[in-house]
Amino acid sequence: MKKTIKHYQYILENLISGVAFHQIIRDKNNNFVDFIFLEVNKEFENITGLKREEIIGKKASEVLPYIKKRKLDWYSLYNDIDLKESKISFEYFSVSTNKWFKVNVFSINKGYFITEFQDVTELINSRKEILERETNFREFFDSPGILKAICKIVDKSAVFLEVNKEFTNYFNLSQEEIKGKTFSDLKIPKRIEKIWFDNFKKSEEFNKPISFEYINSKNRYRFAISHFLGKDNDGFSKYSLVLQDITERKKAEAELRLSEEKFSKAFSISHYAILFTKFEDGIILDVNEGFLKISGYEYNQVIGKSTLELDIWLDAADRTDFTRELTLKGRLVQKEYKFRIKSGDIIIGLTSAELIDINKIKCIITSVLDITERKKAEIALKESEERFRKIFDEAPIGMVLLDNNLNYVRVNKAFSKMVGYSSEELFNLSFKDLVDFEFVKMAEDNYKRLLNAEIFVYKATKKYIKKSNDYFWGDSTTSVIKGSNGNVINIIEMIEDVTDKKSIEQNLILAKERAEEMNRIKSNFLAQMSHELRTPMVGIIGFSDLLKENLREKHLIDFADKINKGSKRLLDTLNQLLDLSIIEAKKLKVKFKTFNIVKEINEVVSFYENLAKEKKLELKFESEFDTLMVYSDLAILRQILNNLINNSIKYTKEGYIRLCLKLEQKESKKYICITVEDTGIGIPPDKQDIIWDSFRQVSEGHGRTFEGVGLGLTITKNLVNSLDGEIHLKESIPDKGSTFEVLLPYFEKSLTSDFDYIYEENSKKNHNVIKNKFLLPDVLYVDDDREAVIVVSSFLKNISNIDTADNAVAGINQARIKRYDLILMDINFRTGMDGLQAIQEIRKIPWYENVPIVAVTAFAMDKDKKEFLEKGCTHYISKPFSREEFVNFIQDILESIRNN
Ligand code: ADP
Repeated sequence: MKKTIKHYQYILENLISGVAFHQIIRDKNNNFVDFIFLEVNKEFENITGLKREEIIGKKASEVLPYIKKRKLDWYSLYNDIDLKESKISFEYFSVSTNKWFKVNVFSINKGYFITEFQDVTELINSRKEILERETNFREFFDSPGILKAICKIVDKSAVFLEVNKEFTNYFNLSQEEIKGKTFSDLKIPKRIEKIWFDNFKKSEEFNKPISFEYINSKNRYRFAISHFLGKDNDGFSKYSLVLQDITERKKAEAELRLSEEKFSKAFSISHYAILFTKFEDGIILDVNEGFLKISGYEYNQVIGKSTLELDIWLDAADRTDFTRELTLKGRLVQKEYKFRIKSGDIIIGLTSAELIDINKIKCIITSVLDITERKKAEIALKESEERFRKIFDEAPIGMVLLDNNLNYVRVNKAFSKMVGYSSEELFNLSFKDLVDFEFVKMAEDNYKRLLNAEIFVYKATKKYIKKSNDYFWGDSTTSVIKGSNGNVINIIEMIEDVTDKKSIEQNLILAKERAEEMNRIKSNFLAQMSHELRTPMVGIIGFSDLLKENLREKHLIDFADKINKGSKRLLDTLNQLLDLSIIEAKKLKVKFKTFNIVKEINEVVSFYENLAKEKKLELKFESEFDTLMVYSDLAILRQILNNLINNSIKYTKEGYIRLCLKLEQKESKKYICITVEDTGIGIPPDKQDIIWDSFRQVSEGHGRTFEGVGLGLTITKNLVNSLDGEIHLKESIPDKGSTFEVLLPYFEKSLTSDFDYIYEENSKKNHNVIKNKFLLPDVLYVDDDREAVIVVSSFLKNISNIDTADNAVAGINQARIKRYDLILMDINFRTGMDGLQAIQEIRKIPWYENVPIVAVTAFAMDKDKKEFLEKGCTHYISKPFSREEFVNFIQDILESIRNN
């Protein structure tokens, strides 16, 4: 027994659990009162911290005074064991030691029991941990959006052991339907199976989780982790597989990458200077190419330096403003600052900046656009604008700008002064308030034509009404100012006060009219006088002739001869005077007819042959033609030739007189050209102008040895003019000779009927003719018959400003360019549009609604006339017509316009 006890003691001592022997103390009623420590082992001491010597033989209530206060009723527990002589095992957490114990209590004999305390804290904790881990794992395993599976590989094919909810959802199968199935059972594509498989192997090989990405069969990005879980009892490897859909993240990443790429591109290629600086100290962290280009620095020269060090800010106030704005608002938008670049030059930078955090450091990203050149241009533009404004404002003539509604938008001082309104007053006025009523419509029409780009400049003389109600005459020149897009911005008008000029002009017109009137009176007087003188001359010449025949004494016959010759010369002079007075009184009769001019010149020349022979002069006539039929006035032509040949013989002592005839083209018109050349005394250059004036001779006064009173060339010039021709002294050299040239319009055939007309500007309405050429009505004549154009132009040249066009389209265009008061339109053109069509087109042009249009036609009957009037003509005249008939017809129309 002793040995047994010893043996037990040994075991007890070396047990890894704490053991204690206890004896129960009962009262007389056998109630459990307390228990005593009989023996404890070392481990007990270790676990409880109680010392064996201090507790053996002691009651529990002494050793563990708090035992009764414990949650667990140890006393009734021990009592129960003792009474039943049984045992119990449980786990207990000791608050005092903060440990878990596995407690075994068992009774040995009645009244004795043993307690065994085994420290299971670690076990319990790890069990708890496992439990926790398991719950976590469950939660993790079932986490939404993530597919998880545990698989094992059997005979090279993978089998699902367990899958989470997401996985079942994905396959639309239940756990049970998936469990135990191979990958191929579930129709997982071979490609994907291989990817999973390879990564299972990898995780096994490296014994660590392997993450990988792939694109699944639905074209979605998968992020996957495979984990080797160890081998099961049968030696098959187990793996976990976690799958996550990262398509959205991938997309976002791609976008981010793209925007990052974009940003870095933008940063590097931007022509803005972009710099990153630290907010705290202005140290430059990074700059782009643009910054280097603008500043002239190299990358290494700026990185790590502060803007202060580089002395970039020209003005400290700018820098303060920049920093303050950023501090207050976090950003700054498009402010102009001045910066100093490496070369020391100053640039103006349009600056924007923003505060940003880079790796938790407050930074500034600044972008600067170099606008120095733009600024310079702006300043230059401003200066030039200023200059032009000054020119406008200070110009000595009136200048105004009108808007498209014809209101004044700007006026200069000169104009204000002219009209007596302040510029402010003028801004509330339109041009209509300042222009006399009768000019308003014309001006308005022309402004519109300017705005419609039908004309580019409009010049006019208008009557302006001042604020004082007084008026002045202004010459205005108007054009438009266009913007860069070609649209009209303003109308600009320059106005010059021409009131004084105008009155001088009017006085001149008056003076000229008076002088002409005086000349007419003089000519009338001369005509009258020459008639009075001619009558007695007939007697003197006749009787001196008779005396010559009847007298005997030689010296008396000589007297009578002298009287006769003197009176003949006097008659010549009187005749010349009469011719001139007829012309000047505009009473010359012109009679056109067709004749052979070669024959007629020959006749005149032969008349002078004797006279020439007497002076031993050669008289010759050369012609390009044998016969040349012309349409002209024969009598006038003869008189012209007489005067010229007469002068040539008179002023030539020796040599020859030569006449030449040819046709000459001058500007689209054909002329008969007759030259009379002599080898006479010639005319000095300084006298060549006066020979055309009446009563003027080259050598005047008593010393003159030639007969004549200086009227011959005056009359000749007037005669040539009466045929719409020209006469010039072509060449004259003193002592060498002179050549006179006569040009007469050449008409091959008669256009109008042969007719007589009085050479005068107009016969019966002379008093109505306006002498000022500018105030004459504008007439357009459209005809493709060249001769008709020449004749009609000559008929109308003194009563109108006549323009011509030779086809219908040209006529329409001409009517668009200028506003005519009257249009004469031929109806039958040889080609192209006919006259009636042209008239209808012209009627569509603004201004021509009511302008009279005359149909001029060669073949017209009454029914045609009706058609003409229906198709837009107001009048009608048929060819041929006499000058008088035609001029009177036109005068009537013009008069009716004036009266309206
Ligand atoms: P006049 O009666 O004096 O000849 P005209 O009007 O015919 O008057 O001529 C004016 C002047 O022109 C003449 O006086 C003469 O001096 C000069 N004259 C005209 N024709 C000739 C000519 N063929 N040669 C030289 N001088 C001429």
